[in-house]
Amino acid sequence: MGIKVVKFGGSSLADAEHFRRVADIVKADPKRRFVVASAPGKRCSADTKVTDMLYRCYDMVHNREDITEYYAQIAERYNSIIRDLELDFDISGELEYIRNAILHHSGRDFAASRGEYLNSLILAKFLHYDFIDAESVIFFRDNGLYDEERTNREMRMELQKHERAVIPGFYGVMPNGTIKTFSRGGSDITGSIVAQAADAELYENWTDVSGFLMADPRIVDDPAPIQSITYRELRELSYMGASVLHEEAIFPVRNAGIPINIRNTNEPTADGTMIVASTAEYDSKRIITGIAGKKGFSVITIEKDMMNAEIGFGRRVLDVLEDHDISFEHLPSGVDTMSVIVSSAHLEGRRERVIATINKRVRPDSIMIEDGLALLAVVGRGMVKAKGTAARVFNAISKADVNIRMIDQGSSELNIIIGVEEHDLEKAQRAIYAEFVK
Ligand code: ASP
Repeated sequence: MGIKVVKFGGSSLADAEHFRRVADIVKADPKRRFVVASAPGKRCSADTKVTDMLYRCYDMVHNREDITEYYAQIAERYNSIIRDLELDFDISGELEYIRNAILHHSGRDFAASRGEYLNSLILAKFLHYDFIDAESVIFFRDNGLYDEERTNREMRMELQKHERAVIPGFYGVMPNGTIKTFSRGGSDITGSIVAQAADAELYENWTDVSGFLMADPRIVDDPAPIQSITYRELRELSYMGASVLHEEAIFPVRNAGIPINIRNTNEPTADGTMIVASTAEYDSKRIITGIAGKKGFSVITIEKDMMNAEIGFGRRVLDVLEDHDISFEHLPSGVDTMSVIVSSAHLEGRRERVIATINKRVRPDSIMIEDGLALLAVVGRGMVKAKGTAARVFNAISKADVNIRMIDQGSSELNIIIGVEEHDLEKAQRAIYAEFVK
């Protein structure tokens, strides 16, 4: 029988009611043998995630504030779950130990990691699954980077000893024994690592939305869900701001050829979105898979007669950006002009110096920086085959009376990136969606 690794996010484990839903989901499929849990998330929009509460406790100790009352609220989050589930389980010793550790200046990561640690202890008890502490199976190197080789080796050995287990997400251990976390949202990464080590047939990532949508629901009314998406399409869309899954979570499973299924704990019958390496089995009927957009870009436009004959011109311009620690997004160019698109935030405080250095190094005829650009990505593996897609995209935008300031089509034909004025971004997204979907 194959194995499915299932990860539940904080909103899926925020209270006893959600724990029950999670148990129903896990028990509904015997393949769901390894479960990765987040810390309790928000129960309503005004609520605070336990992870944020733990960070706050750590900061309070640092500022010599009394944490007694605040820590009691954290303890109550867990105790109320245990009570409501009618579990015969006492975690008061654990809570006391953690409180003391925080008071005695345990690390910030240690404090934050206890959110998933405690939640996983409770979930393991509730499911009658074993508990595997992430600190015995997830390893970081001295330089703070994740140690894939050691983790994979030791996690594999450990998993073989358990028929079914719960593993806390988000953290692992440094060579000196201290706890280290991944970046925020890192339980997604833990799930992916466990799926790789378990040679899982599927990594199910359960959250509070039914997968990815073709467009941002704040912009497009009721956008259609994406049934299947390739890792590469996902990278393109996530980069432009569509976020459901931690960016780094795709690598362990992608390398092992394991698909990820994004599912909704509150709507378990929905299929969600399948994230796959190749779409041979998951062919899309749609030409485009998704649309995403992001504001806050600037264009540096450089002109110089006979630029195209000057070997090394582009490299020298990019060297200047590199020297100022600025990465570039796109490089649309003409015969005698070169434009570099960068994030406006990266230019902050360095504008004058960047212009002066480019002037010195390549002696252009003119150079200027314009702000207020938004980038819009139209992504779809179906675009390679469908003739006239670009024409339809541009037509839709022009009919919406939006001026296009830049066009860049990736050579893989997986995406078309369009630069528009920031105030036109929403209009352009709606126009493209209407053209292709509705
Ligand atoms: N609890 C952690 C956070 O809030 C990690 C996670 O939920 O994935 O960032």
